[in-house]
Amino acid sequence: MISKRDFLRSMGIGVAGLATGKVVGDEPVASKSGLPAGSIGDPKNPSFGRNIFPLEPTMTDGPSCRIVDGEVFEPAHRLPVFHETDVVVVGGGTAGFAAAIAAKRAGAKVALVERYGSLGGLFTNGMVLIMLSACRREAGGDWTLVTRGICGEFMHRAYALGADVSTFEPAKTGNKKHMQPTVDPEGAKYLMDTMIQEAGVEMFFHSWGVDVIQDGNTVMGIVFESKQGRQAILAKQIVDCSGDADMLFRAGGDYRQITHGIGHDVLLANMDRVKGTKTPEGRLRKWPTRSNTANKSMWWGSVRIPPVDRPANGLDIRELSRAEVEFRKYWWEEVREMRKTPGWEEVYIAATASQIGPRATRLVDTEVVVDRKMIAEGKLGDETIGWFGHDGAHAAWAVPYRAIVPKKVENLLCAGRCLGAGDTIDTFRLICPCFVTGQAAGVAAALSARKGTSPRSLAYSDLRSELHRQEVFL
Ligand SMILES: Cc1cc2nc3c(=O)[nH]c(=O)nc-3n(C[C@H](O)[C@H](O)[C@H](O)COP(=O)(O)OP(=O)(O)OC[C@H]3O[C@@H](n4cnc5c(N)ncnc54)[C@H](O)[C@@H]3O)c2cc1C
Repeated sequence: MISKRDFLRSMGIGVAGLATGKVVGDEPVASKSGLPAGSIGDPKNPSFGRNIFPLEPTMTDGPSCRIVDGEVFEPAHRLPVFHETDVVVVGGGTAGFAAAIAAKRAGAKVALVERYGSLGGLFTNGMVLIMLSACRREAGGDWTLVTRGICGEFMHRAYALGADVSTFEPAKTGNKKHMQPTVDPEGAKYLMDTMIQEAGVEMFFHSWGVDVIQDGNTVMGIVFESKQGRQAILAKQIVDCSGDADMLFRAGGDYRQITHGIGHDVLLANMDRVKGTKTPEGRLRKWPTRSNTANKSMWWGSVRIPPVDRPANGLDIRELSRAEVEFRKYWWEEVREMRKTPGWEEVYIAATASQIGPRATRLVDTEVVVDRKMIAEGKLGDETIGWFGHDGAHAAWAVPYRAIVPKKVENLLCAGRCLGAGDTIDTFRLICPCFVTGQAAGVAAALSARKGTSPRSLAYSDLRSELHRQEVFL
């Protein structure tokens, strides 16, 4: 058998690497230079060896669980305090991204805790790319952008990155087109990282929020798990943007749990190389399902049809695991079939979503739970924290502050897809509305931290003036 290195050498690639000690692909290549002092790597492979050093263990093991009479017990033990801050945001999806930046811009020290290694949640890692519900239609037919503030800023900056990142530039008013740009997921991740860094938010990736620290109904921080073990972050205010209201749940807050369709998206590559006009017949529908990604060579697909998209409990790991396998099998077989159509041979799957898509799971019992009747009867009150478009009706809805304040639990706000109920959940959970509720929660948390008050008691006039300063449409 020929090794990768011999193969590269036979191709004439790697020879230069041998002389310089460089790496060809992931193949270490011998170098004349030695290893740096203290390295315990293989001197024959300095390209790897220059990075290999012994390290004192960075964490200590605490007492482990025990079984007593067949039941498993977790012993009490002291947790290291990893960080202290004014506001900790759990979950870096669209809501958490907006919450963290808004809180920082409102003057708070902010930490953002995200279980994965990139921002955007379902928007980027779930490859749900269309920013819906950003605008309302005026009587004359023009479209007005109502999701301004951080959402509007993100849309403009995504467009400024180039036509391969976002489909068009949203205008505040007088736009002839419905503003719902499709954004490239990698461009969105890059932009979100940039904006979080610019704002000066402490970003902790690979950190899974698993509990809250609380005294009665008042929360005082969170517990998170990472490769560094189980540690605490002390905070004056918590914003739960986990999508599933994980922190509210841990704090003993009230919620309703629902099933919803779980989806899974795919990016197809080489769509600009398709020849001919014949469109392949998929098992469920004609291909392609969508073609509106900003990047011309990539087309975007989503499954919403049974058996793969059925009512499911998005918190049940057995269901989630089964769905992951079913979806990938579905896409694989579907695209294999597609490639049999003349002209479509070069199409392939560039990526399947790394984050499966439960649309909704826990819906928080907030002080005000908005439904359509309240909207129709104008009963949303006057504590507006932002607006978002209602996609179907092309109207716009105001969001009242009390829709992000959970009953019972103090110093905790909830934002994103865990809001809304019944006949409004499918609007509240869309990407632009999540930006809006996230930004408001971030501002309210920052002001509450500064004033030493619970968000429940925060004066709306203070909240309004900071939201106004942050260019939220009120
Ligand atoms: C298949 C599908 C298609 C959709 N299509 C559209 C569409 O076309 N247009 C549209 O506007 N909307 C669409 N939506 C809805 C929209 O994408 C989401 O509802 C919205 O992006 C949710 O944002 P979020 O920030 O509230 O939650 P999420 O995007 O779920 O973000 C939550 C974040 O928190 C992290 N997290 C979760 N738990 C923890 C924890 N315990 N500790 C630390 N981190 C945690 C997650 O990793 C994630 O980054 C779709 C949704 C799905 C599922």
